[in-house]
Amino acid sequence: MPLASKKSKKDRFSNKKLLDVPYVVKYKYLGINIDYTMNFTSTLKETSKLISNWDKHQILGYKILSVTQKLSIWKTYFMSKLIHPIITLILLSKSSLKKISSQTSMSIKKCLGINQKLEKEKLFGWLNELTPVEIAEIALLRTLRKLVQIEMKPVNYGFFLRKLSAIPIELAEKYLNGNITKVGIKDFLLLKRSKSIVLEKGKPLEFIQVSDIEWLKFATGELDLYRWKDKTCALCSGELSTNHLMICNGTFNTRKEIEAKIGERADIALRDPTLFNSREKNEHRKIKSFLAEKINSMIISAGRSVG
Ligand SMILES: [Zn+2]
Repeated sequence: MPLASKKSKKDRFSNKKLLDVPYVVKYKYLGINIDYTMNFTSTLKETSKLISNWDKHQILGYKILSVTQKLSIWKTYFMSKLIHPIITLILLSKSSLKKISSQTSMSIKKCLGINQKLEKEKLFGWLNELTPVEIAEIALLRTLRKLVQIEMKPVNYGFFLRKLSAIPIELAEKYLNGNITKVGIKDFLLLKRSKSIVLEKGKPLEFIQVSDIEWLKFATGELDLYRWKDKTCALCSGELSTNHLMICNGTFNTRKEIEAKIGERADIALRDPTLFNSREKNEHRKIKSFLAEKINSMIISAGRSVG
C-alpha cells in the first residue's frame, strides 16, 4: 500500500505503525527495492550504478580478462541480482519491460567495453547468450510447469502466458506440456537470433578469448559506430569502415593469405565464423585463432590514426 503518491523530503515515518506493521521508507521484497510510494524502479538503477562504478574503477577494463570471463562476472554479480526483479517487472507493463531490457543490455555492453549504440540483437547473437528477459521468462515458465506438475495450476495461468514477449506462445505451451525441455527453448531462441543476424549455424565464437574482442567489434559493425566513424584508412586514405577493410588495397595480401590457408573468402570467413563449426575440433580452433590474429592486425594497421 503506498503511503504517499509522491515522495517528499518532509515525509517521516519513524514510530508510525498500522496494526503493528511499521511504516517504512523502503523495503526489499524478492530482491526488489520498493519505496513508500510503491515505486521500485530504484532496483534497476541501483544495480546499474554498481556496473558504472566498476566501469569507473576499471574493474572490468583490464585487457587480460577475456570476453567470456567478463561475461561470467556480469552474470554472477549483475544478472543474478536482477533475475527475480525482472520476473516481477515483466509481468507489470510493456513500458517497464522495455526499460529493463534496454538497461540490462546497456550494463552488459559496459561490462564488455562495447559501444552503447550497438544493437541488442547483434550483441546477444554474437555472444550466443540469452537476453535477461528471455532468462526471466524461462524461469517463469519453469515455475509454472512445476506448479502444474504438482497439480497446483495457478488461477491466473493464462495471464502469465499472455505476458510472455520473448518466448513464442506455441513454444511455451510445448514446454509446459512436457514436449520440449528448457534446453530446447534456449536452443530455439539462440538459433533464431543467430539466423536473424545472418550467422548460419549459431555459436560464432565458442570461447571468446581476449583476442576475439576486436573480431567481435568488426563483425558486429561496432567499429563503425564510434572508433571508425568519419575516419580515414591509414593504409590507403580511403573512408574507413568494416566494409572498406575487406576491399582495401592495403589488406589485399592478408586477405589472400587467409584464403590460401582456409580455402574460403576472407570477407565471408570473418563475417561468419560459424561456417567452420562443422570442422574437426582442433582444426576449428586453429582456424579461429588464425583468423582472430589476422583481423586484429588488419584492424590495427588500418585504424592507426594518420596525420
Ligand atoms: Zn584502406
